[in-house]
Amino acid sequence: MYPKPIERYFAPRNLEEALRLRAEYAAECALIAGGQSLLPRMKARLASHRTLIDLNHLENLTGIESVMDCVRIGALVRHRAAAADPRLRQTASALSDAAQAIGDLQVRNRGTVIGSLCEGEPASDIAPAAIALGAHLRLKHTVGERLVPVTALKSGVIDPREVATHLEFVTPTPGTFSAYLKVGRAAQDRPIIGVAALVVFDREGRSTRAVIVVGGVHPAPQLALRAAATVKDVLLTSRLLTTAGEAAAAEIATQDDTMASAQYRSQLIRSLVPQVLAQVLARFRQEAR
Ligand SMILES: Cc1cc2nc3c(=O)[nH]c(=O)nc-3n(C[C@H](O)[C@H](O)[C@H](O)COP(=O)(O)OP(=O)(O)OC[C@H]3O[C@@H](n4cnc5c(N)ncnc54)[C@H](O)[C@@H]3O)c2cc1C
Repeated sequence: MYPKPIERYFAPRNLEEALRLRAEYAAECALIAGGQSLLPRMKARLASHRTLIDLNHLENLTGIESVMDCVRIGALVRHRAAAADPRLRQTASALSDAAQAIGDLQVRNRGTVIGSLCEGEPASDIAPAAIALGAHLRLKHTVGERLVPVTALKSGVIDPREVATHLEFVTPTPGTFSAYLKVGRAAQDRPIIGVAALVVFDREGRSTRAVIVVGGVHPAPQLALRAAATVKDVLLTSRLLTTAGEAAAAEIATQDDTMASAQYRSQLIRSLVPQVLAQVLARFRQEAR
């Protein structure tokens, strides 16, 4: 199907112009970054917008940079660039794993990390990893800006006059390791379940902090708090990882939908949580060697 005709298309060259257009057309416009979610939705006529504002010509939003003690990812950073970035690989592996797990090469070449978050789709690979890292979105409008935690992103949180310019998180301290794993219906598909884990280890290999986030559940990714508690202040053993999987499956509410049954999702959580924690542990051991 073809999308409904659009009436206005703008390709602003700087952020000020983009913000001005965004404020002027507000609810009737959509921003387009990679178009990997927006265009399929418009073609299926699940969305229609009279005005499109194309962000692709904006300067200074294509980089991944360290600013003070933070990592800042610009709104035009594609999944492929995030997956390949050596600094993210080193300090925020969960996010590079998630970016690498998305779709196929064409989708990763065009789709942006921030577009994934702004889309607010529960079956997203990026959101659980961003939550595990404690990331925030920087939202700008013509007269100001604010930081919104990724945990708070749900439909309606981003005002139609705002543009997300950066994803930001505090650079993980030495000893922090993370990973993300997913299961989709097929390779290159959205996650039925995706799990991100982050663990901070002390010198003896004891975990001092653990975060486990489960995606692919409604209405948004959930923190598995009890599962994380089972792997905190301990030396991780395979028995503990299994216990964490059991705890996560028990505490996370799952849903039936066209992709999978609730029961299958719970089974995936039980099996993915130990696997992703084992991957985190392997990364710690590799570095400690
Ligand atoms: C074939 C295919 C396979 C896919 N597989 C996966 C998968 O395995 N896992 C997965 O998680 N996703 C998958 N996706 C979804 C897709 O990868 C992401 O949703 C996509 O990366 C979104 O980013 P984008 O830049 O393309 O966003 P766009 O489509 O350009 O925009 C998405 C939404 O976000 C808004 N938006 C974009 N940028 C901003 C901004 N800076 N500020 C405010 N609002 C903004 C837009 O207005 C729009 O509403 C797949 C998509 C396709 C087509």
